[in-house]
Amino acid sequence: MTNKIPANSPAWPAIPFSGNPLDRAANFRREADWVDQQRRKASTRLLPLNALKAHIAFGDEPGIGWLSGIEAVDLLDAPGDLVFLGLRDGVAHFARDVADFKALPGHRFMEVRMITPQLAEGEAAILAQARSLVDWHKRHGYCAVCGHRTALREAGYMRQCSNQECNAQHFPRTDPVVIMLVEDGPDRCLLGRGRQFATGAFSALAGFMEPGESLEEAVRREVQEEAGIRVGAVRYVASQPWPFPSSLMIGCIGTALDDAISVDDKELESVRWFSRAEVEEMMANWNNNEAPFRAPGPIAIAHHIIKRWLGGA
Ligand SMILES: [Zn+2]
Repeated sequence: MTNKIPANSPAWPAIPFSGNPLDRAANFRREADWVDQQRRKASTRLLPLNALKAHIAFGDEPGIGWLSGIEAVDLLDAPGDLVFLGLRDGVAHFARDVADFKALPGHRFMEVRMITPQLAEGEAAILAQARSLVDWHKRHGYCAVCGHRTALREAGYMRQCSNQECNAQHFPRTDPVVIMLVEDGPDRCLLGRGRQFATGAFSALAGFMEPGESLEEAVRREVQEEAGIRVGAVRYVASQPWPFPSSLMIGCIGTALDDAISVDDKELESVRWFSRAEVEEMMANWNNNEAPFRAPGPIAIAHHIIKRWLGGA
């Protein structure tokens, strides 16, 4: 009998991009005066992003390269889209896109996905929030209803059309993706590999949810489409913000109703059943390029779903 650990227990390692330590202080965001006061404080901090790369400090350990309110006084004051991330110990934290700002000495602009494995817990979550929001503002300068310019509102959590006759409000998007481990009893599960995967890499099946679908329905549809397997019961395991550009990965475990696989070879190169022992070995080998089969690395929620399944989730 496996000892079950509740999914929210500290015994589970945090899933990268979750665990944001900032208080989003959503109740203050509509107060333009309050936001203005925050942006003028010397204690305020700003995260610059250049082409969606984050400003990272390389000291003893890499960390977010926050600029102080004094270092960032011009960037905090400049016109354009300044996004409020939240408060920490009463200090306001902002992010913005910067094209001409050069990284400070000891700092570099880094791809969020590349630097994440080296960051302390919570820092990657702040980068996820900042990257998704800054990217959304960069791509939503025009109203989808009437084509006029939009302007940032509510400290970055809305854009409003500048055409008075339209006035449409647009909100930052988050695109839900179901990602599921399908089990056939407790001793084997279904994994697949996409055409672009590194040699030997297999992962949980996944796909975007569609409008008008429940989680369970999306899981069943995707598994049927990609592997030809019917799924019965579906249980939720954990979720992960995935800021490339702005998804929410919803991790589930589904129970297979049959076992004859029919691969959708337009989407996947291979789908197959793996025994529990094989999956344990794949998890041990996630970082081993030589292994014949390997699981995804810990940056991906698939790694954590598989781990929890092995642990009896
Ligand atoms: Zn409009």
